[in-house]
Amino acid sequence: MTLDFDDVRRKITSRTKAIIPVHFAGRAVDMDKLNEIASEYGIHIINDAAHAIETEFKGKKIGTFNDLTSYSFYVTKNLTTSEGGMIVTNNEAIANRLKIYALHGMSKDAWKRFSDDGYKHYQIVFPGFKYNMTDIQASLGIHQLRKVDRFHERRQEVWDEYNRRLKDLPLILPTAADPASRHGLHLYIILVDDTKTKITRDQLITELHKRKIGTGVHYLGLNWHPFYQQEFGYKIGDFPNSDFISERTLSIPFSAKLTDEDVNDVVEALEDILK
Ligand SMILES: *Cc1c(COP(=O)(O)O)cnc(C)c1O
Repeated sequence: MTLDFDDVRRKITSRTKAIIPVHFAGRAVDMDKLNEIASEYGIHIINDAAHAIETEFKGKKIGTFNDLTSYSFYVTKNLTTSEGGMIVTNNEAIANRLKIYALHGMSKDAWKRFSDDGYKHYQIVFPGFKYNMTDIQASLGIHQLRKVDRFHERRQEVWDEYNRRLKDLPLILPTAADPASRHGLHLYIILVDDTKTKITRDQLITELHKRKIGTGVHYLGLNWHPFYQQEFGYKIGDFPNSDFISERTLSIPFSAKLTDEDVNDVVEALEDILK
């Protein structure tokens, strides 16, 4: 569910400026192969690490490979500030520009405008956004930060238990992390092939719901949504690999808060429906 590098090469044109890889479900994209393509074509890499706070490739965190990596601290993520996020960079020029973008395009000294030296007018230096995170949100995040490893450890236990107990059911289980990388373990995704299960993914969702098991779908491809069909002429079938996943993907309960009993309930519900 990450990148097909042969396809990446085929899709690059003279207008391609950047590639935005998603380290999907916490599983690292091969950064060696990706950066080889990036330097060969002179293209930027902007990492979407919304699933990948804990993810490492060859012992290095995902946010350390390229100029830009973004994280989400939305309420469903491994670390949350309810809403919010973070971009990391070690390029000072980019960092300064991002700070201006995040607060209305105001010159970066704007926050000092009520200093002891008297009032100073702020200046808008280019059009920006209102993407500032509040101190209240940050105060939630700082405490979560300490728990990141502990939560990851617990999700690893749940992950291993699901792998062990679901392996004989007619489901496609998540691909393991590449030995060179550390999996962030954000989502536990099963693929439901109705020729094997005899029921469709959507029917399975309904059956699980009846047994009080909540699920998610990550995700229906953009070409399944009306806006992208109307605006760009995309249709279901245009992206065979992504379409295969869109039709079959199902995320079962997965979080550090699950008790052993919860995990057992999920497994038993799946057994009950599929056997
Ligand atoms: C959640 C998520 C985002 C968006 O993050 P927000 O903080 O909600 O803007 C982007 N990419 C992926 C893969 C995500 O899961």
